[in-house]
Amino acid sequence: MKFGFDVDDTLINLREHAFHLYNKKLNRQVALNKFQTLNMIPIHELFGMTAEEGKQMWNSSREEIYYSSCPPFPDAVEALHELVRQGHEVYYITARTAEHCERTKKWLIQAGFPVQEGRFYCGMSDTEKVHIIRRLGLDYYFDDKPAVLETLTDLAMNVYVKDNSYNRHVDIPRITNWDELKSLLPE
Ligand SMILES: [Mg+2]
Repeated sequence: MKFGFDVDDTLINLREHAFHLYNKKLNRQVALNKFQTLNMIPIHELFGMTAEEGKQMWNSSREEIYYSSCPPFPDAVEALHELVRQGHEVYYITARTAEHCERTKKWLIQAGFPVQEGRFYCGMSDTEKVHIIRRLGLDYYFDDKPAVLETLTDLAMNVYVKDNSYNRHVDIPRITNWDELKSLLPE
C-alpha cells in the first residue's frame, strides 16, 4: 500500500523545536504548558509578538528551525521503516518552499527517515497537496493541519490527523503517537 506523510508537526516536532529556540533567542522562559495548550499554529502570541513580528521572527529563524536538531516525534522513524520492511511505499508531501526542498530531503535522510528516490514531494502550497495525493493514489495520508485536511474529505482513502493542540476540533480519525500506526493497518 501507499502511505503519504506531511513532515512538519506530523513526523517531526517542529513547532516545539521553534518554541525552544525562540525562548533561547529572546532570553525568555515561556512555560512549555502554554505551548502545549495553544490552539493556533503560529507561536508568536506566546512571546507577545504581533502577527507581523511573528512572521519576521519565523522567517529570520527559519534556517535554524529547519536544519538544526529538530526531533522526530517518538516512534516516527521506526514506524516508517517498519512500513518499508513490510513492502509498503512511503511518500513525503511537504509544503516547505522550493528553496528548502533539497536540503529538507537530505535532512530527513540524516534524521533517519527512509526516503526513496521519487517519493519526496515538496514546494507546493497547502491547497495543492490534494492534487499530488490524488495523483499518487495513496491509501493512507497523515497531516496535522486543519486547512490541508479539509481539502481531502472527498478522496476515497484513509486520512488521519496527527494530534496537536490546534487540531482537536477536527473530526476525523486521529493518531497521537506513531507506535499506533501498526494497529491501524488491516491484518
Ligand atoms: Mg504540517
